[in-house]
Amino acid sequence: MKTYNSLNEVQTDLFNHSISCKELVQQYLTRIEEKKNLNAFLEVFTQSALQQAEKVDAKIKSKTSGKLAGMVIALKDNLCYKNHKVSASSKILEGFESLYSATVVERLLAEDAIIIGRCNCDEFAMGSSNENSAFGNVANPLDTSRVPGGSSGGAAAAVAADLCLASLGTDTGGSIRQPASFCGVVGLKPTYGRVSRYGAIAYASSFDQIGPITKNIADAAIIMEVMAGKDGYDSTASSKPVPEYSKKLNQPTSKLRIAYIKDVIDSKGLNPEIKAKVETIIDQLKAEGHTVEAVDFPYLDYLVPTYYVLTTAEASSNLARFDGINYGYRSKNASDLESTYKLSRSEGFGKEVKRRIMLGTFVLSAGYYDAYYSKGQRVRRLLQNKTNEILNNYNFIILPTTPNVAFKFGQHSADPIAMYLEDIFTVQANITGVPSISLPIGTHSNGLPFGLQVMGKHFSETELFSFSDYLMKDLGKKKEAVS
Ligand code: GLN
Repeated sequence: MKTYNSLNEVQTDLFNHSISCKELVQQYLTRIEEKKNLNAFLEVFTQSALQQAEKVDAKIKSKTSGKLAGMVIALKDNLCYKNHKVSASSKILEGFESLYSATVVERLLAEDAIIIGRCNCDEFAMGSSNENSAFGNVANPLDTSRVPGGSSGGAAAAVAADLCLASLGTDTGGSIRQPASFCGVVGLKPTYGRVSRYGAIAYASSFDQIGPITKNIADAAIIMEVMAGKDGYDSTASSKPVPEYSKKLNQPTSKLRIAYIKDVIDSKGLNPEIKAKVETIIDQLKAEGHTVEAVDFPYLDYLVPTYYVLTTAEASSNLARFDGINYGYRSKNASDLESTYKLSRSEGFGKEVKRRIMLGTFVLSAGYYDAYYSKGQRVRRLLQNKTNEILNNYNFIILPTTPNVAFKFGQHSADPIAMYLEDIFTVQANITGVPSISLPIGTHSNGLPFGLQVMGKHFSETELFSFSDYLMKDLGKKKEAVS
Protein backbone atom coordinates (compact mmCIF):
# COMPACT_ATOMS: atom_id res chain seq x y z
CA MET A 1 0.00 0.00 0.00
CA LYS A 2 1.20 3.46 -0.83
CA THR A 3 1.55 5.55 2.27
CA TYR A 4 -0.01 8.99 2.06
CA ASN A 5 1.44 11.78 4.12
CA SER A 6 -0.91 14.62 3.22
CA LEU A 7 -4.29 15.42 1.75
CA ASN A 8 -2.48 17.05 -1.11
CA GLU A 9 -0.80 13.73 -2.04
CA VAL A 10 -4.13 11.91 -1.76
CA GLN A 11 -5.97 14.41 -3.92
CA THR A 12 -3.24 14.41 -6.56
CA ASP A 13 -3.76 10.67 -6.99
CA LEU A 14 -7.54 10.94 -6.80
CA PHE A 15 -7.79 13.68 -9.36
CA ASN A 16 -5.46 11.97 -11.85
CA HIS A 17 -7.46 8.78 -11.24
CA SER A 18 -4.53 6.64 -10.15
CA ILE A 19 -6.67 5.64 -7.17
CA SER A 20 -10.34 5.95 -6.21
CA CYS A 21 -11.70 6.85 -2.79
CA LYS A 22 -13.12 3.37 -2.53
CA GLU A 23 -9.73 1.79 -3.15
CA LEU A 24 -8.17 4.21 -0.72
CA VAL A 25 -10.62 3.25 2.00
CA GLN A 26 -10.06 -0.43 1.26
CA GLN A 27 -6.34 0.08 1.69
CA TYR A 28 -6.85 1.71 5.06
CA LEU A 29 -9.22 -1.08 6.10
CA THR A 30 -6.58 -3.67 5.24
CA ARG A 31 -3.98 -1.80 7.21
CA ILE A 32 -6.27 -1.42 10.23
CA GLU A 33 -6.75 -5.18 10.14
CA GLU A 34 -2.99 -5.75 9.92
CA LYS A 35 -2.37 -3.44 12.88
CA LYS A 36 -5.13 -4.77 15.08
CA ASN A 37 -2.58 -5.45 17.81
CA LEU A 38 -2.40 -1.69 18.45
CA ASN A 39 -6.06 -1.68 19.58
CA ALA A 40 -6.34 1.85 18.19
CA PHE A 41 -9.88 1.37 16.86
CA LEU A 42 -12.86 0.30 18.90
CA GLU A 43 -14.93 -0.01 15.75
CA VAL A 44 -14.34 0.37 12.06
CA PHE A 45 -17.23 1.88 10.12
CA THR A 46 -16.62 -0.29 7.06
CA GLN A 47 -20.03 0.05 5.49
CA SER A 48 -20.62 3.76 5.91
CA ALA A 49 -17.01 4.57 4.97
CA LEU A 50 -17.29 2.63 1.73
CA GLN A 51 -20.66 4.23 0.97
CA GLN A 52 -19.28 7.71 1.55
CA ALA A 53 -16.24 6.81 -0.60
CA GLU A 54 -18.51 5.86 -3.51
CA LYS A 55 -20.40 9.11 -3.10
CA VAL A 56 -17.17 11.11 -3.15
CA ASP A 57 -15.88 9.15 -6.16
CA ALA A 58 -19.02 10.18 -8.06
CA LYS A 59 -18.50 13.80 -7.04
CA ILE A 60 -14.88 13.70 -8.17
CA LYS A 61 -16.07 12.41 -11.52
CA SER A 62 -18.58 15.22 -11.86
CA LYS A 63 -16.03 17.73 -10.55
CA THR A 64 -18.22 18.73 -7.62
CA SER A 65 -16.17 17.33 -4.77
CA GLY A 66 -15.57 19.27 -1.55
CA LYS A 67 -12.40 20.50 0.10
CA LEU A 68 -11.76 17.33 2.06
CA ALA A 69 -12.48 14.85 -0.73
CA GLY A 70 -10.56 11.69 0.04
CA MET A 71 -9.51 12.64 3.53
CA VAL A 72 -9.92 9.49 5.60
CA ILE A 73 -10.53 10.54 9.18
CA ALA A 74 -10.99 8.65 12.44
CA LEU A 75 -12.95 9.99 15.40
CA LYS A 76 -12.06 9.73 19.03
CA ASP A 77 -14.74 7.65 20.67
CA ASN A 78 -16.31 10.66 22.39
CA LEU A 79 -17.58 12.35 19.22
CA CYS A 80 -21.09 11.58 18.08
CA TYR A 81 -21.79 10.31 14.56
CA LYS A 82 -25.43 9.70 13.79
CA ASN A 83 -26.49 6.04 13.76
CA HIS A 84 -23.04 4.95 14.89
CA LYS A 85 -21.98 3.74 18.28
CA VAL A 86 -20.11 6.01 20.68
CA SER A 87 -18.98 4.94 24.15
CA ALA A 88 -16.31 7.34 25.49
CA SER A 89 -14.45 4.05 26.03
CA SER A 90 -16.72 3.39 28.99
CA LYS A 91 -18.74 0.37 29.92
CA ILE A 92 -21.54 2.72 30.96
CA LEU A 93 -22.11 3.67 27.30
CA GLU A 94 -21.36 0.30 25.76
CA GLY A 95 -23.75 -0.29 22.88
CA PHE A 96 -25.09 3.28 22.87
CA GLU A 97 -25.82 4.67 19.42
CA SER A 98 -25.75 8.39 18.59
CA LEU A 99 -29.02 9.97 17.56
CA TYR A 100 -27.27 12.91 15.93
CA SER A 101 -23.87 13.92 14.62
CA ALA A 102 -21.50 16.36 16.25
CA THR A 103 -21.31 19.66 14.37
CA VAL A 104 -17.69 18.91 13.46
CA VAL A 105 -18.70 15.56 11.97
CA GLU A 106 -21.45 17.13 9.88
CA ARG A 107 -19.07 19.79 8.59
CA LEU A 108 -16.36 17.28 7.67
CA LEU A 109 -18.82 15.05 5.86
CA ALA A 110 -20.30 18.01 4.02
CA GLU A 111 -16.81 18.65 2.56
CA ASP A 112 -16.49 14.98 1.56
CA ALA A 113 -14.26 13.61 4.28
CA ILE A 114 -14.65 9.89 4.92
CA ILE A 115 -15.05 8.73 8.51
CA ILE A 116 -13.43 5.36 8.95
CA GLY A 117 -14.11 4.49 12.56
CA ARG A 118 -13.95 5.38 16.21
CA CYS A 119 -10.74 5.30 18.18
CA ASN A 120 -10.00 4.03 21.63
CA CYS A 121 -9.34 6.63 24.35
CA ASP A 122 -9.20 6.99 28.09
CA GLU A 123 -12.62 6.59 29.63
CA PHE A 124 -14.49 9.91 29.31
CA ALA A 125 -11.17 11.43 28.14
CA MET A 126 -9.68 11.16 31.63
CA GLY A 127 -6.10 10.05 31.46
CA SER A 128 -2.67 10.52 29.94
CA SER A 129 -1.85 7.02 28.74
CA ASN A 130 -5.00 5.40 27.35
CA GLU A 131 -4.71 2.87 30.17
CA ASN A 132 -8.08 3.99 31.54
CA SER A 133 -10.13 2.65 28.64
CA ALA A 134 -12.71 0.01 29.49
CA PHE A 135 -11.72 -1.67 26.23
CA GLY A 136 -8.01 -2.24 26.72
CA ASN A 137 -4.75 -0.39 26.25
CA VAL A 138 -3.59 1.11 22.97
CA ALA A 139 0.01 0.36 22.03
CA ASN A 140 2.31 3.09 20.77
CA PRO A 141 3.03 2.16 17.13
CA LEU A 142 6.64 3.32 17.51
CA ASP A 143 7.29 1.00 20.46
CA THR A 144 4.49 -1.34 21.42
CA SER A 145 5.77 -1.74 24.98
CA ARG A 146 4.92 1.92 25.56
CA VAL A 147 1.77 3.97 25.91
CA PRO A 148 0.57 6.18 23.04
CA GLY A 149 -0.36 8.92 25.49
CA GLY A 150 -3.88 9.98 26.29
CA SER A 151 -6.59 10.55 26.35
CA SER A 152 -6.80 10.59 22.54
CA GLY A 153 -4.31 7.70 22.41
CA GLY A 154 -6.05 5.64 19.73
CA ALA A 155 -6.57 8.71 17.53
CA ALA A 156 -2.86 9.64 17.64
CA ALA A 157 -1.68 6.04 17.21
CA ALA A 158 -4.00 5.61 14.22
CA VAL A 159 -2.46 8.58 12.40
CA ALA A 160 1.11 7.57 13.30
CA ALA A 161 0.51 4.01 12.06
CA ASP A 162 -1.18 5.12 8.82
CA LEU A 163 -4.54 3.67 9.71
CA CYS A 164 -6.12 6.95 8.58
CA LEU A 165 -4.79 10.23 7.25
CA ALA A 166 -6.04 12.34 10.16
CA SER A 167 -8.13 12.06 13.26
CA LEU A 168 -10.14 14.24 15.59
CA GLY A 169 -9.44 14.25 19.28
CA THR A 170 -10.59 16.33 22.22
CA ASP A 171 -8.27 18.25 24.49
CA THR A 172 -9.27 19.25 28.00
CA GLY A 173 -5.78 19.33 29.49
CA GLY A 174 -3.50 18.01 26.76
CA SER A 175 -5.34 15.03 25.33
CA ILE A 176 -4.58 15.95 21.74
CA ARG A 177 -1.09 17.39 22.18
CA GLN A 178 0.41 14.84 24.55
CA PRO A 179 -0.46 11.74 22.49
CA ALA A 180 0.59 13.63 19.36
CA SER A 181 3.95 14.22 21.04
CA PHE A 182 4.29 10.57 22.08
CA CYS A 183 3.37 9.27 18.63
CA GLY A 184 5.31 11.77 16.51
CA VAL A 185 2.41 13.61 14.86
CA VAL A 186 0.90 17.11 14.88
CA GLY A 187 -1.88 17.89 17.37
CA LEU A 188 -3.77 21.16 17.79
CA LYS A 189 -5.93 22.36 20.65
CA PRO A 190 -7.79 25.31 19.16
CA THR A 191 -8.73 28.48 21.04
CA TYR A 192 -11.60 27.79 23.41
CA GLY A 193 -14.74 28.63 21.45
CA ARG A 194 -13.16 28.31 18.01
CA VAL A 195 -14.77 24.91 17.40
CA SER A 196 -18.28 23.89 18.42
CA ARG A 197 -18.41 21.26 21.14
CA TYR A 198 -21.90 20.12 20.15
CA GLY A 199 -21.83 16.35 19.94
CA ALA A 200 -18.63 15.91 21.94
CA ILE A 201 -19.25 13.95 25.12
CA ALA A 202 -18.45 16.51 27.79
CA TYR A 203 -15.71 16.07 30.35
CA ALA A 204 -15.06 19.65 31.59
CA SER A 205 -17.08 22.03 29.46
CA SER A 206 -15.08 25.20 30.09
CA PHE A 207 -11.86 23.43 29.04
CA ASP A 208 -12.88 20.95 26.30
CA GLN A 209 -12.04 21.63 22.66
CA ILE A 210 -12.12 19.38 19.62
CA GLY A 211 -9.06 19.50 17.39
CA PRO A 212 -7.19 17.72 14.60
CA ILE A 213 -4.34 15.20 14.77
CA THR A 214 -2.44 15.09 11.49
CA LYS A 215 0.92 14.44 9.88
CA ASN A 216 1.49 18.03 8.81
CA ILE A 217 0.30 21.59 9.29
CA ALA A 218 -1.55 21.99 6.00
CA ASP A 219 -3.91 19.13 6.88
CA ALA A 220 -4.57 20.53 10.34
CA ALA A 221 -5.25 23.94 8.78
CA ILE A 222 -7.78 22.68 6.25
CA ILE A 223 -9.61 20.56 8.83
CA MET A 224 -9.86 23.59 11.10
CA GLU A 225 -11.07 25.79 8.29
CA VAL A 226 -13.89 23.33 7.66
CA MET A 227 -14.97 22.58 11.20
CA ALA A 228 -14.46 25.85 13.09
CA GLY A 229 -16.99 28.64 13.39
CA LYS A 230 -20.22 29.62 15.00
CA ASP A 231 -22.88 27.08 15.72
CA GLY A 232 -26.42 27.56 16.88
CA TYR A 233 -26.08 24.42 18.99
CA ASP A 234 -23.16 25.68 21.09
CA SER A 235 -23.39 29.18 22.52
CA THR A 236 -19.72 29.09 23.48
CA ALA A 237 -18.70 28.69 19.83
CA SER A 238 -17.45 32.09 18.71
CA SER A 239 -19.07 33.92 15.82
CA LYS A 240 -15.73 35.39 14.73
CA PRO A 241 -15.27 34.66 11.03
CA VAL A 242 -13.05 31.66 10.25
CA PRO A 243 -10.02 32.56 8.12
CA GLU A 244 -8.97 30.32 5.25
CA TYR A 245 -6.09 28.94 7.27
CA SER A 246 -4.86 26.60 4.56
CA LYS A 247 -4.32 29.47 2.14
CA LYS A 248 -2.32 31.49 4.62
CA LEU A 249 0.52 29.06 5.24
CA ASN A 250 4.05 29.65 4.01
CA GLN A 251 3.62 33.38 4.29
CA PRO A 252 6.95 34.99 5.04
CA THR A 253 7.32 35.01 8.79
CA SER A 254 8.36 38.51 9.74
CA LYS A 255 10.62 38.87 12.74
CA LEU A 256 8.77 37.51 15.71
CA ARG A 257 8.86 37.96 19.44
CA ILE A 258 8.89 34.61 21.17
CA ALA A 259 8.81 33.90 24.87
CA TYR A 260 9.84 30.86 26.81
CA ILE A 261 9.16 30.31 30.47
CA LYS A 262 12.39 30.04 32.41
CA ASP A 263 10.92 27.80 35.13
CA VAL A 264 9.64 25.37 32.49
CA ILE A 265 13.04 24.94 30.89
CA ASP A 266 14.66 24.59 34.30
CA SER A 267 12.02 22.30 35.80
CA LYS A 268 13.43 19.28 37.57
CA GLY A 269 11.34 16.66 35.84
CA LEU A 270 12.19 17.74 32.29
CA ASN A 271 14.15 15.14 30.34
CA PRO A 272 17.62 16.59 29.57
CA GLU A 273 17.40 15.73 25.87
CA ILE A 274 14.03 17.48 25.54
CA LYS A 275 15.46 20.49 27.34
CA ALA A 276 18.49 20.50 25.02
CA LYS A 277 16.27 20.38 21.94
CA VAL A 278 14.17 23.32 23.11
CA GLU A 279 17.36 25.26 23.78
CA THR A 280 18.65 24.43 20.31
CA ILE A 281 15.41 25.71 18.79
CA ILE A 282 15.69 28.89 20.82
CA ASP A 283 19.22 29.41 19.48
CA GLN A 284 18.16 28.68 15.91
CA LEU A 285 15.29 31.15 16.13
CA LYS A 286 17.62 33.80 17.53
CA ALA A 287 20.11 33.10 14.75
CA GLU A 288 17.34 33.77 12.25
CA GLY A 289 16.77 37.18 13.72
CA HIS A 290 13.76 36.56 15.94
CA THR A 291 13.63 37.90 19.45
CA VAL A 292 13.47 35.01 21.89
CA GLU A 293 13.37 35.88 25.57
CA ALA A 294 12.93 34.18 28.90
CA VAL A 295 9.89 35.34 30.84
CA ASP A 296 8.75 34.78 34.39
CA PHE A 297 5.69 32.72 35.10
CA PRO A 298 5.93 32.11 38.81
CA TYR A 299 2.80 29.95 38.94
CA LEU A 300 3.96 26.69 37.45
CA ASP A 301 3.14 24.76 40.62
CA TYR A 302 -0.46 25.96 40.51
CA LEU A 303 -1.30 24.74 37.02
CA VAL A 304 -1.92 21.07 37.68
CA PRO A 305 -3.81 21.53 40.99
CA THR A 306 -6.03 24.25 39.48
CA TYR A 307 -6.73 22.03 36.49
CA TYR A 308 -7.68 19.03 38.62
CA VAL A 309 -9.87 21.00 41.05
CA LEU A 310 -11.85 22.70 38.30
CA THR A 311 -12.08 19.87 35.76
CA THR A 312 -13.17 17.30 38.33
CA ALA A 313 -15.85 19.72 39.54
CA GLU A 314 -17.17 20.12 36.01
CA ALA A 315 -16.88 16.39 35.36
CA SER A 316 -18.89 15.50 38.46
CA SER A 317 -21.70 17.63 37.10
CA ASN A 318 -21.40 16.54 33.45
CA LEU A 319 -21.29 12.85 34.30
CA ALA A 320 -24.39 13.02 36.51
CA ARG A 321 -26.46 12.27 33.42
CA PHE A 322 -25.13 8.71 33.26
CA ASP A 323 -27.56 7.32 35.76
CA GLY A 324 -28.70 3.97 34.41
CA ILE A 325 -32.02 5.52 33.35
CA ASN A 326 -31.30 7.75 30.41
CA TYR A 327 -28.22 6.26 28.86
CA GLY A 328 -26.45 2.99 28.31
CA TYR A 329 -25.66 0.54 31.05
CA ARG A 330 -28.24 -0.40 33.69
CA SER A 331 -27.34 -2.76 36.49
CA LYS A 332 -29.19 -6.04 36.50
CA ASN A 333 -28.84 -6.20 40.27
CA ALA A 334 -30.92 -3.09 40.90
CA SER A 335 -34.28 -3.41 42.59
CA ASP A 336 -35.50 0.17 42.88
CA LEU A 337 -34.71 3.68 41.68
CA GLU A 338 -31.95 4.38 44.17
CA SER A 339 -30.19 1.08 43.64
CA THR A 340 -30.51 1.59 39.86
CA TYR A 341 -28.56 4.84 40.17
CA LYS A 342 -26.03 3.50 42.63
CA LEU A 343 -25.34 0.13 41.08
CA SER A 344 -25.41 1.30 37.46
CA ARG A 345 -22.86 4.00 38.21
CA SER A 346 -20.73 1.79 40.48
CA GLU A 347 -20.60 -0.99 37.93
CA GLY A 348 -20.55 1.16 34.81
CA PHE A 349 -17.76 3.65 35.55
CA GLY A 350 -14.09 2.73 35.82
CA LYS A 351 -11.80 3.55 38.71
CA GLU A 352 -10.32 6.83 37.42
CA VAL A 353 -13.71 8.23 36.45
CA LYS A 354 -15.07 7.42 39.90
CA ARG A 355 -12.04 9.01 41.53
CA ARG A 356 -12.68 12.22 39.61
CA ILE A 357 -16.43 12.28 40.24
CA MET A 358 -15.72 11.92 43.95
CA LEU A 359 -13.01 14.60 43.90
CA GLY A 360 -15.26 16.93 41.93
CA THR A 361 -18.21 16.37 44.23
CA PHE A 362 -15.95 17.07 47.19
CA VAL A 363 -14.58 20.36 45.86
CA LEU A 364 -18.11 21.52 45.11
CA SER A 365 -19.59 20.42 48.44
CA ALA A 366 -20.99 23.05 50.81
CA GLY A 367 -18.16 22.93 53.34
CA TYR A 368 -15.31 22.96 50.82
CA TYR A 369 -16.61 25.02 47.90
CA ASP A 370 -14.87 28.20 49.02
CA ALA A 371 -11.62 26.48 49.87
CA TYR A 372 -11.35 24.59 46.59
CA TYR A 373 -13.71 25.36 43.73
CA SER A 374 -14.06 29.06 44.32
CA LYS A 375 -10.34 29.44 45.02
CA GLY A 376 -9.57 27.41 41.90
CA GLN A 377 -11.62 29.85 39.84
CA ARG A 378 -9.71 32.78 41.27
CA VAL A 379 -6.37 31.13 40.58
CA ARG A 380 -7.59 30.40 37.04
CA ARG A 381 -8.17 34.11 36.53
CA LEU A 382 -4.67 34.87 37.82
CA LEU A 383 -3.15 32.31 35.46
CA GLN A 384 -5.18 33.75 32.58
CA ASN A 385 -4.09 37.31 33.34
CA LYS A 386 -0.43 36.39 33.56
CA THR A 387 -0.54 34.30 30.37
CA ASN A 388 -2.34 37.08 28.48
CA GLU A 389 0.19 39.59 29.77
CA ILE A 390 3.00 37.50 28.25
CA LEU A 391 1.10 37.06 25.00
CA ASN A 392 0.47 40.80 24.77
CA ASN A 393 4.22 41.26 24.60
CA TYR A 394 5.12 38.27 22.48
CA ASN A 395 3.65 36.46 19.47
CA PHE A 396 4.13 32.99 20.93
CA ILE A 397 5.26 31.03 23.94
CA ILE A 398 7.30 27.93 23.16
CA LEU A 399 7.76 25.03 25.55
CA PRO A 400 8.02 21.24 25.49
CA THR A 401 4.72 19.37 25.13
CA THR A 402 5.67 16.74 27.69
CA PRO A 403 8.40 16.37 30.29
CA ASN A 404 9.34 12.97 28.87
CA VAL A 405 8.91 10.66 25.93
CA ALA A 406 6.25 7.91 25.92
CA PHE A 407 6.49 5.81 29.06
CA LYS A 408 6.06 2.07 29.58
CA PHE A 409 2.69 0.55 30.38
CA GLY A 410 2.05 0.54 34.11
CA GLN A 411 4.81 3.02 34.90
CA HIS A 412 2.49 5.53 36.58
CA SER A 413 -0.45 3.28 37.32
CA ALA A 414 0.11 3.09 41.06
CA ASP A 415 0.49 6.83 41.48
CA PRO A 416 -2.24 9.08 40.14
CA ILE A 417 -0.31 12.22 41.15
CA ALA A 418 2.68 11.17 39.02
CA MET A 419 0.27 10.61 36.14
CA TYR A 420 -1.37 14.01 36.69
CA LEU A 421 2.05 15.70 36.64
CA GLU A 422 2.49 14.45 33.07
CA ASP A 423 0.07 17.27 32.18
CA ILE A 424 2.23 20.03 33.62
CA PHE A 425 3.05 21.74 30.30
CA THR A 426 -0.23 21.22 28.50
CA VAL A 427 -2.90 22.38 30.96
CA GLN A 428 -1.94 26.06 30.80
CA ALA A 429 -3.51 26.42 27.36
CA ASN A 430 -6.79 24.88 28.56
CA ILE A 431 -6.92 26.86 31.80
CA THR A 432 -6.43 30.07 29.81
CA GLY A 433 -8.26 29.10 26.62
CA VAL A 434 -5.41 29.96 24.24
CA PRO A 435 -4.62 27.82 21.17
CA SER A 436 -1.69 25.46 21.39
CA ILE A 437 -0.08 23.04 19.01
CA SER A 438 2.36 20.16 19.42
CA LEU A 439 4.87 19.75 16.60
CA PRO A 440 6.81 16.50 16.12
CA ILE A 441 10.26 17.97 15.83
CA GLY A 442 12.24 16.11 18.46
CA THR A 443 13.68 12.62 18.53
CA HIS A 444 15.24 11.23 21.68
CA SER A 445 18.43 9.14 21.48
CA ASN A 446 16.24 6.13 22.32
CA GLY A 447 14.43 6.74 19.02
CA LEU A 448 11.17 8.01 20.48
CA PRO A 449 9.62 11.26 19.30
CA PHE A 450 8.68 14.28 21.39
CA GLY A 451 6.88 17.47 20.56
CA LEU A 452 7.60 21.16 20.74
CA GLN A 453 4.57 23.09 21.92
CA VAL A 454 3.64 26.55 20.68
CA MET A 455 0.95 28.64 22.38
CA GLY A 456 -0.49 31.72 20.75
CA LYS A 457 -2.96 34.51 21.56
CA HIS A 458 -6.68 33.77 21.55
CA PHE A 459 -7.91 33.20 17.98
CA SER A 460 -4.42 33.44 16.50
CA GLU A 461 -4.66 30.09 14.67
CA THR A 462 -3.62 31.68 11.37
CA GLU A 463 -0.32 32.91 12.82
CA LEU A 464 0.10 29.71 14.81
CA PHE A 465 -0.20 27.59 11.67
CA SER A 466 2.24 29.64 9.63
CA PHE A 467 4.81 29.75 12.43
CA SER A 468 4.36 25.98 12.95
CA ASP A 469 4.84 25.34 9.26
CA TYR A 470 8.02 27.36 9.35
CA LEU A 471 9.26 25.47 12.42
CA MET A 472 8.46 22.09 10.89
CA LYS A 473 9.96 22.85 7.52
CA ASP A 474 12.93 24.99 8.33
CA LEU A 475 13.90 24.06 11.85
CA GLY A 476 12.73 20.52 12.19
CA LYS A 477 12.40 17.61 9.93
CA LYS A 478 9.14 16.16 8.77
CA LYS A 479 8.21 12.88 10.36
CA GLU A 480 8.62 9.81 8.26
CA ALA A 481 5.63 7.50 8.24
CA VAL A 482 5.82 4.46 10.47
CA SER A 483 6.20 1.28 8.50
N1 GLN B 1 -4.42 14.02 30.99
C1 GLN B 1 -5.40 14.99 31.30
C2 GLN B 1 -6.44 14.41 32.20
O1 GLN B 1 -6.35 13.27 32.54
C3 GLN B 1 -5.99 15.54 30.04
C4 GLN B 1 -7.20 14.89 29.57
C5 GLN B 1 -7.83 15.55 28.39
O2 GLN B 1 -7.28 16.51 27.85
N2 GLN B 1 -9.01 15.08 28.03
O3 GLN B 1 -7.35 15.08 32.61
